[in-house]
Amino acid sequence: MPLLCEVAVPVPLARAFSYEVPPALAASVRPGARVLVEFGRKKVLGVVLATSEGDAPEGVRLKPITAVVDPEPVLPGELLSFLRELSSYYFAPIGEVLRLALPAVEREDVRALEAQGELPGTLSRVKQVGGRKIAYARPTDAVEEPGVLRGQAASALALLRANGEMPIARLEEKFGNARAAVKKLASLGLVVVEEREPPRDAFFARPEPKDEPPALNEAQAAAEARIEGALSEAKPAAFLLFGVTGSGKTEVYLRAIAGCLARGRGAIVMVPEIALTPQLVSRFRARFGDDLAVLHSGLSESDRHAMWKRVRTGAVRVAIGARSAIFAPVTNLGLVLVDEEHDGSFKQEEGVRYHARDMALLRAHRASAVAVLGSATPSLESVQLARQGKLVELRLPDRAHREATLPEVTTVDLRRIGPGPTGNKLVSLPLHRALEKSLAAGEQAILFLNRRGFAPSVVCESCGHVATCLSCSVALTFHRARGGRMRCHYCDWEGPMPAACAECKAPSLALEGLGTERLEETIAEAFPAARVARLDRDVADGAKAEAILAKMRAGEIDVLVGTQMVTKGHDLGNVTLVGVLNADAALSLPDFRASERGFQLLVQVAGRAGRRDRPGRVIIQTRNPAQPAVQFAMRHDVSAFLEHELADRAEVGYPPFSRLSLFRVDALDEDVARRAAGVIAAHAKTSPEGQSRVVEVLGPAAAPLARLRGRYRFRVLLRSKDRRALRAATQVAAAAIPEIDRRVRVVVDMDPVAM
Ligand code: ADP
Ligand code: ZN
Repeated sequence: MPLLCEVAVPVPLARAFSYEVPPALAASVRPGARVLVEFGRKKVLGVVLATSEGDAPEGVRLKPITAVVDPEPVLPGELLSFLRELSSYYFAPIGEVLRLALPAVEREDVRALEAQGELPGTLSRVKQVGGRKIAYARPTDAVEEPGVLRGQAASALALLRANGEMPIARLEEKFGNARAAVKKLASLGLVVVEEREPPRDAFFARPEPKDEPPALNEAQAAAEARIEGALSEAKPAAFLLFGVTGSGKTEVYLRAIAGCLARGRGAIVMVPEIALTPQLVSRFRARFGDDLAVLHSGLSESDRHAMWKRVRTGAVRVAIGARSAIFAPVTNLGLVLVDEEHDGSFKQEEGVRYHARDMALLRAHRASAVAVLGSATPSLESVQLARQGKLVELRLPDRAHREATLPEVTTVDLRRIGPGPTGNKLVSLPLHRALEKSLAAGEQAILFLNRRGFAPSVVCESCGHVATCLSCSVALTFHRARGGRMRCHYCDWEGPMPAACAECKAPSLALEGLGTERLEETIAEAFPAARVARLDRDVADGAKAEAILAKMRAGEIDVLVGTQMVTKGHDLGNVTLVGVLNADAALSLPDFRASERGFQLLVQVAGRAGRRDRPGRVIIQTRNPAQPAVQFAMRHDVSAFLEHELADRAEVGYPPFSRLSLFRVDALDEDVARRAAGVIAAHAKTSPEGQSRVVEVLGPAAAPLARLRGRYRFRVLLRSKDRRALRAATQVAAAAIPEIDRRVRVVVDMDPVAM
């Protein structure tokens, strides 16, 4: 009987394809190995998913495999089956999912292989690309004419403006046609392209002296013992490590990894933003030496590939990175750690929309590895799993440094208490005085405001019109940098500030509200002797963020002003004051998770204060001090908040008390988009689960951000307590997609996070 094999090719089609294996190749075709196959008129690289003996279906002539590329599987079996499960759970094409797990070089298009003279025939291995120059694209200061850019060029430009310079190969992972897009942008003078050697990896720039593991405190020791125990079990438990900020969770991670390595197994460590956690990497290096794979976006394609190979061969057993580290080909995986598991960045919001925290549990489970999710403010999802006994909860109730206590938190009611000497409404008198005090004592302060730019809106004082983006339904933010310009924070459009109101033509435009740029300026003017710096997406990414944080640690900054970037797990010993400028802005998103997110932010940023012997102080400014998230944050009572929020969620029937799938529908034409969403909702309603109301179909409705990059957005939300029913109904609704107008884009988002 002929041997058949199922091959996933890197195309966005949901299914795999069958090929026949010629007898000469039968011995060398293995699941997880790459093969060269004819696909349409092209030759492409595919990954073997499975082989089976049998005949081709009646009347079908299967093409033979052209060549076997890998004698050994390029993906470990455990990882391959994990990818297949992920693909099916998220309704994501297996070819797309494989792209996440294979570096570009490993799935390089066939023409490159042919050019290397390695085809046709059986290839021993793909040549490695190394030590060569790579092309970077960098945004210039030039501004495009409104409306000249569309599609991938506009998206690529937005991404470059948000991130600064990026290797073109990185862009290609997001946009298939990035090279053409960059070429167009370069011809318009909007980006410049430069070829050069990639920089050496900043994470390993300085040598790191070996550290001496501290004696664990009682709670840490108990947590370590449980994890150690699990590492020896055949079907180990998964853990939720719930420890207050500064309680020594990282030390527990380090011990767990040591235990894992001692058993000859490997580990994956996921953190929200690797660029913001150089300190964590240093601690890992101090403990384990430099045999770590740090996977981050600053790596050149060849470094990334080299790193991937070292992990794949087992030369390196610990991989650290952001969400994509879940795809690291660690062999004999023993441990999967997720630090700050509540963080929203673990959800990928484009392409394959997976949740890395959920997938960490899945991959660990399938690999019989231990999973540890750690946080000071665990997600309601994880807390609920712990209550159901699916996660074992480990608690670290106290700060690890003997003298360090949790900071004192007070609120300032912005409705009653006026501005301090700066005159700015958002720098209240108590906050001003506290800043004075901390500066006088030679201590550091962090001011958190989740608004970038100078002023969040530009308003006409005579007619009240707010300047909004032409392509998105959001207000434009005024940025003072580069001569003063208005910018859209969603599509990154940027243009000059007009002299008059677009609506009533009156020359009475005023800047309203406070952004980090203006806050930095306000504080610097009010405290001329203070060294003030800012950390947000406009001034810093990756290496620049690290440099600012290093200055902060070295005591070269007195006041650090910034967005969410300042709330991440930085361990800064001399920070004694944290000011939250406007808690309401963080707590008022149109999302059922708004309160949970806002609370997490408040607790995380408050956790930056008083981490050593000096007591810390936190001031939260708000117009509604009575709201539960603020009240519970004041008392550092995470457990009580979780209790309260779980009760609220149970009442409204949102996750974790139900599951959701979201269809995101958008088109340039509003009616076209609305109609398409209607078709999907109708399909969902006719499914058996929809008819029996086991699955609720909510919508179609306009998305909270009704228009983005010129496209009108609608959504259909499916909700159910029954996971299988939700899946079935989602499948029925998804089956409608091929019938929908080609101008419409439809995306299925399982377990959506951004609403
Ligand atoms: P978390 O990850 O929970 O925020 P960290 O692991 O960063 O906490 O610990 C906070 C601080 O306490 C760090 O400076 C760390 O070195 C220190 N620390 C952790 N565990 C111990 C311990 N058992 N004894 C002394 N210091 C410790
Ligand atoms: Zn816009």
